[in-house]
Amino acid sequence: MFDYLIVGAGFAGSVLAERLATRSNKKVLIVDKRSHIAGNAYDHYNEEGILVHKYGPHIFHTNSKDVFEYLGNFTDWRPYEHRVLASVDGQMVPMPINLDTINKLYGLNLTSFEVEEFFASVAEPVDVVKTSEDVVVSKVGRELYNKFFKNYTNKQWGLDPSQLDKSVTSRVPTRTNRDDRYFTDTYQAMPLHGYTRMFEKMLDHPNIKVMLNTDYHEIMDFIPFKEMIFTGPVDEYFDFKFGKLPYRSLEFKHETLNKEKHLAAPVVNYPNDNLYTRITEFKALTGQEHPKTALVYEYPQAEGDPYYPIPMPENAELYNKYKKLADETPNVHFVGRLATYKYYNMDQVVAQALTLYKKLTEKEKSTSPVLPAISGSSSLVEKLVSRSPQQE
Ligand SMILES: Cc1cc2nc3c(=O)[nH]c(=O)nc-3n(C[C@H](O)[C@H](O)[C@H](O)COP(=O)(O)OP(=O)(O)OC[C@H]3O[C@@H](n4cnc5c(N)ncnc54)[C@H](O)[C@@H]3O)c2cc1C
Repeated sequence: MFDYLIVGAGFAGSVLAERLATRSNKKVLIVDKRSHIAGNAYDHYNEEGILVHKYGPHIFHTNSKDVFEYLGNFTDWRPYEHRVLASVDGQMVPMPINLDTINKLYGLNLTSFEVEEFFASVAEPVDVVKTSEDVVVSKVGRELYNKFFKNYTNKQWGLDPSQLDKSVTSRVPTRTNRDDRYFTDTYQAMPLHGYTRMFEKMLDHPNIKVMLNTDYHEIMDFIPFKEMIFTGPVDEYFDFKFGKLPYRSLEFKHETLNKEKHLAAPVVNYPNDNLYTRITEFKALTGQEHPKTALVYEYPQAEGDPYYPIPMPENAELYNKYKKLADETPNVHFVGRLATYKYYNMDQVVAQALTLYKKLTEKEKSTSPVLPAISGSSSLVEKLVSRSPQQE
């Protein structure tokens, strides 16, 4: 008999499997319907021997020392600060918008002080900032909104920014200095040997059995277990009882070029002209040296694997119905991006999983006098889980 059946071997499922097996001596079966572990963070060497991220670029960044140190048990890190250029009006300019973006775009030579005045002069007054459009036009005006945000958001979400919650574009700062880093988190690094290797180490324990190419429906009636941890889509778990939760999907087109370097930055965004939103050059993320280079193009889609929960009020309402059901379902714990219908980054999912682990052990502590210690400070991880979503 397994103590836990864990559905999904991504960050949420694997962190819980690791904690439960190593800290609480629980017997865990982790199943995934895909042919690999690591969920959307899965990386592998392509046919040319270049390390690529199958489901698009995954850049690790966090302000949580606990999360960073916890994952550091399973990988060494390669320091990496992410940088993005946007292709706008035939030029490659830094994104998020900063002093250099404005100077290059308009052929100016403004100082930080002057660019602040420039933003103030073009900003549109908005009484109450509600939507993603409001956020941007109230900061940098309509022209920059049109050049950098309107079409990109339309492509990415299939919705106009005026229809989307303000959280989507709030995540992208506007800077008056020359800082061109995409993220400003305290810890920014990539797992030295890749994400999949890190997950292999996490799951390498005699108490953990891994079953791939397996939908949990195929086995749950035959393999006895006490409790379930579910990291798949919550609406699917409840047979879409209240209707389908909307997701945005992506198609990834991978390509290898017979040259050492292709892009001027690790990622180039295409806010306007192309059907794809961005191109990533993997060697720039991983630091790998290789005579060829591998790229991925991202084409947003309405149908396909569920990648992005769509942050709109009516979707939050629908999710709340599922959440109520989930809360009332005994011995099943819902965690992760799909099971809680939240647009979470990797660090937030790790924090959410560590918080659930703490809850599970506390529950057990109340019924049993002897329990192993829990590592990690819960207040920090709880804070991280409750913060607003960050841009990828
Ligand atoms: C294109 C893209 C880029 C991203 N970039 C970044 C980034 O740069 N930085 C960052 O921090 N985050 C990024 N993220 C977010 C990151 O991928 C997630 O935060 C993280 O992977 C979520 O982990 P999870 O375990 O919740 O879900 P997942 O990784 O999705 O794992 C869930 C697993 O459950 C399995 N599953 C579902 N249903 C079943 C079933 N019925 N039976 C068995 N198994 C099932 C799935 O196959 C899947 O493997 C990105 C996401 C995407 C889509």
